[in-house]
Amino acid sequence: LGEALNKLADEIQDQISEIHLEHNRLRVILGGMRDGLIAIDDHGKIVLINSVMSRILGFEIREARGRYLSDVVKDSEIIELLLNTLKMQRPLEAELDLGLGQSEKFLKAYTSPLIDYGQDVSGALIVLHDLTQTRMLENMRRDFVANVSHELKTPITAIRGIAETLVDDPQMELELRQKFMTKITDQSHRLSNLVSDLLALARLDEREKTPKTRIDLGTLIEERITSLSKVTAPEKMARLLFDKPEEPVHVYGEEEELRQAIGNLIDNGLKYTPRNGSVRAVLRSTGDQATIRIEDNGIGIPEEYLDRIFERFFRVDKARSREIGGTGLGLAIVKNICLKHDGNVEVESKDGKGTVFTITLPLHTDSE
Ligand code: ADP
Repeated sequence: LGEALNKLADEIQDQISEIHLEHNRLRVILGGMRDGLIAIDDHGKIVLINSVMSRILGFEIREARGRYLSDVVKDSEIIELLLNTLKMQRPLEAELDLGLGQSEKFLKAYTSPLIDYGQDVSGALIVLHDLTQTRMLENMRRDFVANVSHELKTPITAIRGIAETLVDDPQMELELRQKFMTKITDQSHRLSNLVSDLLALARLDEREKTPKTRIDLGTLIEERITSLSKVTAPEKMARLLFDKPEEPVHVYGEEEELRQAIGNLIDNGLKYTPRNGSVRAVLRSTGDQATIRIEDNGIGIPEEYLDRIFERFFRVDKARSREIGGTGLGLAIVKNICLKHDGNVEVESKDGKGTVFTITLPLHTDSE
């Protein structure tokens, strides 16, 4: 009898170990899943739930286990889907739009009945796949295409209208004709700027590896200032100054891209600062970072727009930006270039007083 009892005890111990192992396996699988999962029994009680699901629905796992689904889950669509799966005894699919506090989540739901060994339905299972990020990217892409089309259409419509007027009236006064021609030229410049900026963004989005070199930032800034002074008469633009450190500041990067990023900020400073104002570039090296500040005392940016300023096509004053040849893509390009160089760009501004953009980039020391 003793021997039989010992054998039984061993067998029970083995079974307990086996159950533990199973339980752990299930815990690891549920914990490692990127989708949310809930299983209920045929009375609607929660028998299984993973942490992703508890996070999506906003409650603790231990609050949910063993309780009725309808007592824990607030969303009626999820409850309905699970109960219908039990009733119809077949898998169902649906897209859910959950408004959770301030954030909104788009989820794809898949359900399935749980069939036991006797082929009876003993419960149902729902898996929620989070589509929020994908939806957000889709919306961004759609908005971008709509914006590009609109931006392209405006100058094309203007050029077409003016060209048709010129063709219709061959006897037009010379002065008026000249005015129309100038408008066509301006609009073609706008188109060409837009296409160049779009191409620059597309190249940056491709994240192609471009050859990097050691770059002297002081020389880059000086070159930009010299070329601007050559094409613009001093009385037509704000004063342009450069505060350059004695020691050269080097970074490692793609020269053309950094030239464009710094150039865009200097151009903006001049565009949005009246002629009697000033734009100053300040270059410094602090610790292991190079900082380039472009400061102006121009029109400034209202505080409520500061966190949107780097978005594609965002402009504080659309009409004004267009009038002075802006595309609304300049700062998006700057941000992209800085991030690609493991750096960043930040803005501080006071409406009506002026703006400071600060680029930070990792320094490239001699020993590297
Ligand atoms: P844009 O081609 O319109 O200049 P950007 O992307 O370069 O496009 O800039 C976006 C918007 O940010 C501009 O339309 C303008 O409203 C604002 N902005 C940029 N730089 C400055 C600045 N230095 N001072 C005031 N506003 C600025």
